Order: sequence, then structure tokens, then C-alpha cells
Amino acid sequence: PDLFGPNRRNARGWDLTSAQDLDAIAKARAEWETASFTVAPLMAGTAKGGASHTAQNPARPGDRLGTVTQASPEDVQTALAAAHPWGTDAASRARILTQAADLYEDHFGAIFAILAREAGKTQADALGELREAVDFLRYYAGQAESLEHPARGIFTCISPWNFPLAIFTGQIAGALAAGNGVLAKPAEQTPIIAHYATRLLHEAGVPRDVLQLLPGDGATVGAALTSDPRVNGVAFTGSTETAKSIQAAMAEHLAPGAPLIAETGGLNAMIVDSTALPEQAVRDVLASAFQSAGQRCSALRCLYIQQDVAEEFETMLFGAMDELRLGDPWHLATDIGPVIDPQAQSQIAEYIAQARADGRVLHDLTAPTEGHFIAPVTLRVRGIADLTREVFGPVLHIARFKAADLDCVIADVNATGYGLTFGLHTRIDGRVQHVMDRIRAGNMYVNRNQIGAIVGSQPFGGEGLSGTGPKAGGPQYLTRFTKPTAPQAAM
Ligand code: GLU
Repeated sequence: PDLFGPNRRNARGWDLTSAQDLDAIAKARAEWETASFTVAPLMAGTAKGGASHTAQNPARPGDRLGTVTQASPEDVQTALAAAHPWGTDAASRARILTQAADLYEDHFGAIFAILAREAGKTQADALGELREAVDFLRYYAGQAESLEHPARGIFTCISPWNFPLAIFTGQIAGALAAGNGVLAKPAEQTPIIAHYATRLLHEAGVPRDVLQLLPGDGATVGAALTSDPRVNGVAFTGSTETAKSIQAAMAEHLAPGAPLIAETGGLNAMIVDSTALPEQAVRDVLASAFQSAGQRCSALRCLYIQQDVAEEFETMLFGAMDELRLGDPWHLATDIGPVIDPQAQSQIAEYIAQARADGRVLHDLTAPTEGHFIAPVTLRVRGIADLTREVFGPVLHIARFKAADLDCVIADVNATGYGLTFGLHTRIDGRVQHVMDRIRAGNMYVNRNQIGAIVGSQPFGGEGLSGTGPKAGGPQYLTRFTKPTAPQAAM
């Protein structure tokens, strides 16, 4: 495949404005609307199984998805003992991963249904996520044969619930394309989609002892998989605090030099200046802040509007906000689904309640009473320094700035220590360059929304507290999964 040239292609996807595609999706999903799933560890030996629980739909409290059995501590040890690098040639690895991509596309009905029921994904989000997962498989498969160095050995991959298919698949595909064996621990909230995807990867030809799935929580399964000397590297996406504790555990127990590839949080800003096209900026602010119920590490958290246009812009923004539909992600008309679980819901609600008590709520919507919903809300702040932490939900902070203070805004954004996404709406070319030269962010988006990086075109990842790099979906990602063998220069 032509990975870096003009013939590179992303997954075909589905067109949510085409009656034909919508019909195909509705038919394929229908049989999974009430399906029940049984999830258990998928590993080389027989799993004993640990604690189990019933999985529930965050939008529909009565919808039980099935039973999830976690890996027991003993299972983790069995899996570690059986784990080994993928000892097949690069061409076969590429062929099998490409085959898995095709299988993912064939299974779109089940995948869209599980993403809606388990993770609260709207149809548009589920579609984007399946495409991204397929892109990761094909893109990394395409690089397997040109890697210069051998696999490191065994990788632990710990993935988040907010992209339970795309990031889960991306980490694993990266590690496997480079020839490693993988021990995958999906997020506690989303084991069903991970289990479904792992079965497709096995069906495509990844051996069961090369890719093992160990559902469980971070404190037991995650901790065991990041503090065992048989593990040669860790890929992790999640909070900055967890990344730090993984790093500490690795430093203590793993061989020196074992890499941690971490994608963590963000405190992302967008600047809208007085030359921005307001209709477009409004649409892009709404998508950046509220799509996926704000549960993206790329999401917009702090919007800076230039003073001269702020009043008018906020009025337009709040009007457009009123048109957003919250509800069950199963329905096509839904723009915003639930947050992931009751804990997330009550933490975000508490944050909003405090802001309300402080008189900082500018505009908000009403959430459905059933299910774990948080209604999108905007809060007044003086600047990003007022944000004490990343609130992982549909909460947008709004500040106003004077044109003369642009560089102070940039300095404040950089001072957060995070550096993931940044958005700029302006029609002054020189300003784009000016900001780009100064802002510290992994991905800067101009005159568009700041979410939904596309594999191969927009490698995704941040700096500082936002992650270690290399960027996912970029040309350097796979090299971190390989072991440099070049001899050291003699001193
Ligand atoms: N890659 C996603 C995006 O560009 C964000 C990933 C994440 O939230 O971890 O929106």
C-alpha cells in the first residue's frame, strides 16, 4: 500500500445521509439490539475466571448486556507464562492484520450496536470509531515490512473506555505489526467491545497465545501486567496520574529501557478572534466541546473569544446549543449520548453544581432523567488558569480576551503543562503562523473543529503532561515497539 503518498486511502465508512447506508446499518444493528454477551478472558490456557458482573447500558438502565468475568490473578500469571513474541514473518503479520480490518468492516452491525449499548456512542461516533480502528489495522500492517528493527517481546496494552474499539485496536495493531506478543487489558467499563474485537483478530489469524485479552481492573490486572519483568513495554491511554504510576511500577520492575507509550489528558483551548466566520466557529465549538459528550481527551475545554465579538458570538453559540438533542445514542437523531457511568455522572454533576453556586453558569440544557446523562453546559472563567483539572464531560469554559493580549493567552495555555489539541478560528494568515510558532500542542487545528484526528493524515498525540509520543496513526509510532540494535558508539 501507498502509506505516505497520494494513493493512501482511509476506510470507506458509511454515509449517514444516504438512505441506502442508513437502511443497511439499521438492518445489521437490529439483531444486536437486545443481544446478550458473555465475556471472559481470552488466553492461551483455560481461564479460571475471577469476579464477574452484569454489564449495563449507560443510556438505558434496564438494558443488561450480559455477564463479564474478569481475569483472576492466577489467569494473569498463566497468560504471562504463555506469552511470546509473534514469531512469524512481517508479510504474514501484515496479511493477517489486513484481514482483521476486513472482518471489522464486515461486522459493522454488531460493532455499532455494542458501541451504542456499552459505551453510549452515537451512530456518528460509532461510525468514526470503526473507521479509525480499521485505519489503524491497515496503516500499521502497511508498515510492518519496512521496520528496521526486531520486536521488543511482550507488550501490555491498556486502553480507555472513550475509544474502546479504536484505541484498543490501535495499540494492539501497533504492537503486533512490529512482531510483539500482546497482553491486552481493556477498560473496566468496555470489555464487551474489546472481547468482540479480539475474537475477530483471532479469527483473522492472530494466534491465541500472541494476543491474550485479560479483562479486569487497574489495581489488580493492570498493576500485575505493568510490574512483571517478562513484559518488555507498555502502551497506555488514560489519565496522566495513572500513566505516572505505571511509569513508577515499570521503573521498579521492568528492564531498564522498557518503553512506556502513553497518551494522557489535556486542557485544550480554542481561540476565536474577531475575523472568524461566526457560523462556522459556532459549529466547530459545539462539536469540539460536546460531541461524544465531551469524553475525548482532544475535546475543547476552554474557549477564548475576542472581546469585540464576544457578546454576539455567545448569543449565537447558546442558540445553537439549544438545538442539540440529548438522548439514547441508538437513535440517529441523537447528537449527544450519556456519560460512561454513574461515577462519571456524579463527579461532573458535582463540578457543575459548584460552578452554579459560584454563579458561573452561562447557559445549559436539560438532561433526560433516565440514564447517566449530563446536559451540556458553558461556564464563565477569566482564563484557562481557572481550570483546576480536566473535567471529562460536556462542560465548556468560556473566557474573553483583548486582541492586544493574544500572547498572554498563548502563554497561559502553555502554562497548563498539557499540550494536546489547540483550535484557532481566524481569517488572518499571519496570525495562524504566529500562534503555531508559539503554542505548545501536539495537534493544532485551524478554522475547523479540534477532534477526530484521522489516521495517516493527522497523527495524534501531545506533549508535556499529555503524553510521551510517538503520535498514534503517524509514521513513527511502530518504531517504539521495536528494539534498536545499532551498536553504541565507542567512547
Ligand atoms: N484521537 C481522538 C481525537 O482526535 C481522541 C483520543 C482520546 O480521546 O483519547 O478526537
